[in-house]
Amino acid sequence: MSERFDAAALRAQFPVLAQSVRGKPLAYLDNGATTQKPQVVIDAVTHFYAHDNANIHRAVHTLGERATAGYEGARVTVQRFLNARSEREIVFTRGTTEGINLVANSFLRPRLQPGDEILVTGMEHHANLVPWHLACAATGAQMRHVPLKDDGSLDLDTLPGLLTERTRLFAFTAVSNALGTVNPVAQLVALAHARGIPVLVDAAQAVAHLPAHELDVQALDCDFLVFSGHKIYGPTGIGVLYGKRSHLDAMPPWQGGGDMIREVFLDRSTFAEAPSRFEAGTPPIAEAIGLGAALTWFMALDRTAALAHEDALLARATEALRALPGVRIIGTAPRKVSVLSFVLDYAHPHDAGTFFDFEGVAVRAGHHCAQPVMARFGVPATLRATFAPYNTDADVEALLRAIARVHKTFTD
Ligand code: PMP
Repeated sequence: MSERFDAAALRAQFPVLAQSVRGKPLAYLDNGATTQKPQVVIDAVTHFYAHDNANIHRAVHTLGERATAGYEGARVTVQRFLNARSEREIVFTRGTTEGINLVANSFLRPRLQPGDEILVTGMEHHANLVPWHLACAATGAQMRHVPLKDDGSLDLDTLPGLLTERTRLFAFTAVSNALGTVNPVAQLVALAHARGIPVLVDAAQAVAHLPAHELDVQALDCDFLVFSGHKIYGPTGIGVLYGKRSHLDAMPPWQGGGDMIREVFLDRSTFAEAPSRFEAGTPPIAEAIGLGAALTWFMALDRTAALAHEDALLARATEALRALPGVRIIGTAPRKVSVLSFVLDYAHPHDAGTFFDFEGVAVRAGHHCAQPVMARFGVPATLRATFAPYNTDADVEALLRAIARVHKTFTD
């Protein structure tokens, strides 16, 4: 456990964590699904609705100006968080899923011909598969994937053969939500770029768990990067698509409506520049402001110490589970963050997850929107505990107690 890091003090900033569930202190270990929100984020959203609520960009009145400044200020915060060259490379979306659909529809589809290929990996979330499937169905392009090794890391030896002259995009996750594997993002980008292939990075699981330099879009040189606010202590309903300016400027709008236009006639319209071009209609204003507050809060943390604490919890829980009979850990790659996926040979994940709740332990049980990963490891579902810096040793102990209870119930 890191001596420099005070997890209890951090935890005290999250009101939701100070409760009991079924008479037990809440051990919230479902951070991979969504993170809890610190008081500063709750306050930012409340403050907006209590003092500044108005629609943005169009208003000439004071509240409209404040709301616009808050929304555009959040964009600048995201730019700083990702070290993008310009805030104009930051498009607000509803989340990772919408960002990927935007790239699939606006960037990729116009470029696809029958026989073209989209390369993904065997560990993608459905959000980084289904939009490409739809694009393939509409154009005759095909999916290829980088296979997984038995430990849940990418089989990188296959990559040179998969990046071909037909590959139009390489879309991969930085961190697997089902396995916890951390992929070598910069190396993958460089390999794709060496063949002139653009890259999309799904950073949904990475944003809250990797150090800043591994999310620096200029250093990574990725073409697109997407994430969701709710996975990094911000609100739901808001996410980010980072795109290189040269790409965004060349991409047609995907959705039409107010605020994304330059001029509209009855029979045609011209469009605003990026990012407005991709933000049709009234956006999630309070949510964007909440995301700005979340990123500001996160950047002010001692991130190295916070992530070291989280890594120590993952290591401790992993070691403890390894010592238990009838437990199989799914995903044992050399570099992992946050995620501990496992199956019990004496209980179905859904049954076990329900029993965990009796101990106040919140984990996920299911396929984690990664059915190809489940198929690869020959399991229908897993239990998944996912750690954040506000978790403590007590949460790990609660998890171990919950497993012991399931073991007793199902084997006695
Ligand atoms: N990609 C990964 C790796 C994820 O973990 C998730 C969320 N579980 C998504 C994409 C989709 O994110 P959202 O549902 O917030 O759009």
